[in-house]
Amino acid sequence: LSDRLTQTFKNLRSRGRLSEADIDATVREIRRALLDADVAVPVVREFTRAVRERSLSAEVSGALNPAQQVVKIVNDELVAILGGQTRPLHLAKTPPTVIMLAGLQGAGKTTLAGKLALALKEQGHTPLLVAADLQRPNAVNQLSVVAERAGVPVFAPHPGNTSAADDPAADAPLIGDPVGVARDGVAEARAKLHDVVIVDTAGRLGIDEVLMRQAADIREAITPDEVLFVIDAMIGQDAVNTAKSFADGVDFTGVVLSKLDGDARGGAALSVAQVTGRPIMFASTGEKLTDFEVFHPDRMASRILDMGDVLTLIEQAEKAFDTEQAEKMAQKVASGEDFTLADFLVQMQQLKNMGSMKKMLGMLPGMGQMREQLDQFDEREVDRIEAIVRSMTPAERDNPKIINGSRRARIARGSGTSANAVNQLLDRFSQAQKMMKQMGRGGGMPGMGPGGM
Ligand code: GDP
Ligand code: MG
Repeated sequence: LSDRLTQTFKNLRSRGRLSEADIDATVREIRRALLDADVAVPVVREFTRAVRERSLSAEVSGALNPAQQVVKIVNDELVAILGGQTRPLHLAKTPPTVIMLAGLQGAGKTTLAGKLALALKEQGHTPLLVAADLQRPNAVNQLSVVAERAGVPVFAPHPGNTSAADDPAADAPLIGDPVGVARDGVAEARAKLHDVVIVDTAGRLGIDEVLMRQAADIREAITPDEVLFVIDAMIGQDAVNTAKSFADGVDFTGVVLSKLDGDARGGAALSVAQVTGRPIMFASTGEKLTDFEVFHPDRMASRILDMGDVLTLIEQAEKAFDTEQAEKMAQKVASGEDFTLADFLVQMQQLKNMGSMKKMLGMLPGMGQMREQLDQFDEREVDRIEAIVRSMTPAERDNPKIINGSRRARIARGSGTSANAVNQLLDRFSQAQKMMKQMGRGGGMPGMGPGGM
């Protein structure tokens, strides 16, 4: 895919406004990438529609070419749908924190129970595992093995009774009441002062009403702080139906994507997140208990897009752009050179390009006093400022003092603003100019330059 995209890039103009043709060419590639990653078809459709819309109305960045901009929009959108930030576990104010696992049979719930317990134990918690999967006799035994490997205790219906567990007749009838076991397990955790309790539940091969009812009953009985829906990353197009059924039948607070060590590019992550709006919290990446990590939406986005190189390029281009502009400005200030309206305009455009005033302020130590002013800064204002400055002659830009009444009226007309707006801009500019001069006298801005960022 990366090759195809590179080709698409070559065929595009390197600069300028995003045209519909540019956008469509890139969106086509994105659609193919998502389908390759096994993102569910309706999700792909909805996603590309949203991206196309956003791209059409996107501000043109100075740092990126049109195709890169579309990819960046795609990536940002993916990261946002995948939950934006890594979402940590919600711990209960009053322990124990109750975590319930749900998902189809073979999804990786029991394995995850062990992984989660080990990770929590290493963070200083004292987890208890509860075996509420009584669908198959062997399930309890499997959780006990996992618990032993993690070095955490397990609460099971018939402790010590291994005869049932050894029974090879896999799908024997229920060997106990899973709701009761779950409830007793949580009570045990409370009594023995475990601060976290992880309840493993049964799954079926397909979506099943009886199973869903059981999971919902368990949920009702133990009112968990988190219900984690475990889903196999290889599930592909079935992700949507499965996720919807669990969202409707049990509801869950977070998602765990398992078997990410396989070939799957992880399209299921996007399908589940888009359809349920629930954050993906953890990733399971192997059969060992340590093959477990918190989920990073940004990494997943680049895995789904399969264009890590392109994304790195985009990041570097943006960084270089920021640094270059900031350095130019710093040099100008440090050398005490006069700060002109043209500089002011460039500065405003940078603020707009970067999208975030705070980021800019972070890059320019010494501008803290501007923070409040800039917090109230309306980005559309930049367009107005730009129009006004563009309506000035070079002589007026170099020396705004020559702007008299008739010049002001001309500029206002040319920019489609008012004489009042021109005055306001000139006032603001002269304030900024004074400030820049002060900073220049103060010996420049400490910490500027490539080393100081
Ligand atoms: P459950 O039915 O939901 O409890 O699923 P299990 O935890 O029993 O897992 C089903 C199978 O998948 C087992 O053979 C596990 O070893 C395997 N498994 C679980 N998680 C992962 C994973 O992240 N990667 C790989 N490769 N295998 C996994
Ligand atoms: Mg299991």
